[in-house]
Amino acid sequence: MGMALCKGFPFPGGRLPDFVTCAGLQLRGSVRGLANCGLSCCINALLQTFAATTELEELLSRWQPSETFDKKNVPLELKRALDAMKDKRQSSPHLDFLKCLHEHNICRLTQHDADEVFHTILNLIQKQMSDQQIAAEIKNLYKIDVEECTECEKCRNVHRTPNIFLSFPLPLHEGENTLMDCFRMFFKPQRLEGSEAFYCVKCEEKMSSTQRCKLVSLPSILCINLKRFRSSRGYTRKLKDKVSFPESINMAEMLPEEHSQLAERRYRLYGVVVHTGMPMMGHYTAYIYTTDSKWYYIDDSHTHQVSWEEVQSTYGGRERETAYMLLYRTLSSEAAPESNP
Ligand SMILES: [Zn+2]
Repeated sequence: MGMALCKGFPFPGGRLPDFVTCAGLQLRGSVRGLANCGLSCCINALLQTFAATTELEELLSRWQPSETFDKKNVPLELKRALDAMKDKRQSSPHLDFLKCLHEHNICRLTQHDADEVFHTILNLIQKQMSDQQIAAEIKNLYKIDVEECTECEKCRNVHRTPNIFLSFPLPLHEGENTLMDCFRMFFKPQRLEGSEAFYCVKCEEKMSSTQRCKLVSLPSILCINLKRFRSSRGYTRKLKDKVSFPESINMAEMLPEEHSQLAERRYRLYGVVVHTGMPMMGHYTAYIYTTDSKWYYIDDSHTHQVSWEEVQSTYGGRERETAYMLLYRTLSSEAAPESNP
């Protein structure tokens, strides 16, 4: 891979100190904490997942803008923040990025929803990047193509609407869920009737219909948003129910049968954005799987190495911490051994 990896530091008790010097090498296999600057835990946790997404970093490093930008350019400040994070002498490598987001209504001293901020950042990259080719490649990294198919129950005409997701919005039910349950629930056909009936262009009136979502393509970075926050009548409730998720997934086992053409796709978990506490006054942390195959827990400036069992403590249920966003990376074909004929 040609990356400079720093392996085998003798950290007492397996804990990684916040500041590590590594004889001028860039610490690609390690993590660093980020100070909490004005309730920045949500952006800090997201920045940790962006830093762990080496594919994103490689695309950003190919972008060499010649023009000068003001301090409102999100892709540029993200690129700078990710570079600065690798230099452990910089105590606040994310400060300019936070200021930049503040200019785009992701204000400091405010609690944010990590999935919303994730979307805002990716959308601003699309809008503000001078190299549209690289911007498109960044979008493709995360892009999930779906098709909403609505079938009229009378004439059987199917109306198809293409749509894209940058994160998979998976619902959960109260009680215990597996990730597969959430996927199955997402793809369950919905009946649209009464006030929700769909306008059929053939029947030329609103008809009872069945709506189902069809998956068209999967990305190399699969971001999953567990829909733990539910709003109704101006009040947001958090579902703390258990959702278990595996370290690696085979989409063949996750998706309903009609998606089998896409199913032979394997992913490995490398990032978990965790929410703790109440919807409006919670705290975000992250678990990151590094290129040297270790899990780390990152709570703002504090970081330490953890086991996979500790990552599993974010499943929810009785636990305080609940996983909110999951980042899976596709395993390359050479990583998944093919069976010989
Ligand atoms: Zn019809």
